[in-house]
Amino acid sequence: MSQRLRLAIQSSGRLSDDTTDLLKACGIRISRPDRKLRMVSEHFDIEILFVRDDDIPGYVADGVADAGVVGENVVLEKNPDVRQLDRLGFAACRLSIALPKTDTYNSLEDLNGKHIATSYPGLLGRYFEKNGIKASIHEISGSVEIAPGIGLADGICDIVSSGSTLISNGLKEVEVILRSEAVLIASPELSEEKQAILDTLQFRIQSVLKAKKHRYILMNVPNESIERVKDILPGMRAPTVMPLAQEGWSSVHSVIPDRAFWDVIDNLKEAGAEGMLVVPIEKMVL
Ligand code: ATP
Ligand code: ZN
Repeated sequence: MSQRLRLAIQSSGRLSDDTTDLLKACGIRISRPDRKLRMVSEHFDIEILFVRDDDIPGYVADGVADAGVVGENVVLEKNPDVRQLDRLGFAACRLSIALPKTDTYNSLEDLNGKHIATSYPGLLGRYFEKNGIKASIHEISGSVEIAPGIGLADGICDIVSSGSTLISNGLKEVEVILRSEAVLIASPELSEEKQAILDTLQFRIQSVLKAKKHRYILMNVPNESIERVKDILPGMRAPTVMPLAQEGWSSVHSVIPDRAFWDVIDNLKEAGAEGMLVVPIEKMVL
């Protein structure tokens, strides 16, 4: 019987939807009748385990799962023996230290002697140690942001995304100790067969992520402007240039990175490009 790769993903929470969407885009459809804890994929030698995200690094380190999708913050907090592979581009957040907004804060030294509440004692402890800060850590498992208000701590270290939770609790972010997103992790040792499945999965994931970061662009360009337009386009290779039915004009196609998008568009317009169409790319296989 062929081996299956066991992939642990969060059963329900902030990571679950994006994880299932990514796997779906990779050809792994996830249907979960009766909220089962295990599911075997039909078109791929993969078995999905639905678990609590905090348990994922441990499962992967212990070999209960071969690979997993989890927040980098959780991986680094637990510091398990796993390989950290691709960053997956979702569940972006930061782990930050926050103090009451009325506190004066100029530099890290101001944290000396403080009592900080957190669910991330490992990461925070290492951060203090690295920076030579003598502060104490109070580990709590949830509702960290209320700790200063109820007199439990002088400040907190917690996950922040928009920052609105901090503000509504009268806190201000003073240091970012980690920028995190969802990552793919794998156990350090896998059988050859499982490693091959993981390689295929990673290849697909990378194709999907690359596609998300790029756009396909089509435009009409007067022939005398083609050279200028070519210089502007940061495409994968030279752009495709095809004659239009109308004499003296060509259709130019290329792929551009999303982050360069508006600058490129403005420059193309200036160079004489017209009728630009920009379309999303579903997969990019290089
Ligand atoms: P539980 O384990 O009790 O379900 P959790 O906080 O561990 O709760 P989620 O809230 O689903 O689980 O968060 C999962 C991951 O999503 C976090 O570990 C983090 O990587 C990421 N994340 C992104 N933005 C946020 C945010 N605003 N608050 C918390 N986590 C966030
Ligand atoms: Zn969790």
